[in-house]
Amino acid sequence: MPELLEVEAYRQLLLPTIGARILRVEADNLVCSGLPGRCPCEGQQILGIRRKGKLLLFDLADHVVGLHARMTGSVLLDGTSAFAKLRYAPTVSNEAFVRLRVHLEDGRVIALHDPRRLARVTLDPDEEALGPDATTVTTEILQRALEIGTHSKVALKARLLDQSRLSGLGNLLVDEICFQAHLDPARPAALLTDNELFTLIAQIGTTLRELGARGGSDTGALQDARHAGGCCPNCGVLLTRSTVGGRTTYACRNEQQ
Ligand SMILES: [Zn+2]
Repeated sequence: MPELLEVEAYRQLLLPTIGARILRVEADNLVCSGLPGRCPCEGQQILGIRRKGKLLLFDLADHVVGLHARMTGSVLLDGTSAFAKLRYAPTVSNEAFVRLRVHLEDGRVIALHDPRRLARVTLDPDEEALGPDATTVTTEILQRALEIGTHSKVALKARLLDQSRLSGLGNLLVDEICFQAHLDPARPAALLTDNELFTLIAQIGTTLRELGARGGSDTGALQDARHAGGCCPNCGVLLTRSTVGGRTTYACRNEQQ
């Protein structure tokens, strides 16, 4: 599933389209379900392209259009994918999987490629429903997101995945961050000590920077061991495989407490 790093790559791919006017939109009826019949974007100029968490946002004169890539959505500009640099996405482009085509007045075409057909476009999405973007995390933001100092028993990983608290981190990034920060993803988030909180903040920044430079959310140290029988890349013990926050989770029982 595309996480913050992949959606940021989509945004950067599309930055050169700022200023262009939208001529015509061809859309799969599921992708734009719930939107008015006549496309409100046609004729409008793209004034800006932003990202909050995993949500890609197009600023038009009269509207903001949100694109949720969900499980397998990826963005193409004139047939070029953002994944020349990033590899965590379907790289094989199949015309049958193109769910949305935005024809710009200058002839360029923005396309959404989505084998699972789960990506969605929303008009004027509620950006406030998303927590602060993970690239902007501070002590205060993380204390609030993890409900530090309360009696909550919710697992650290569940809190970090909760997009209404902190947006942009998905399953792979959260497992990698917890692994590198030596924190057990299943322990109650509210009980992190001050030192652990500082370690976690620093690790979120480091992991985003390093994996972004290396090629995406699937380039972490844990990645090759994410399978039954996978061993810790540091100490070699069998990784524990469990479900935390509803997602398959790998962790090292030796090193993550
Ligand atoms: Zn280990």
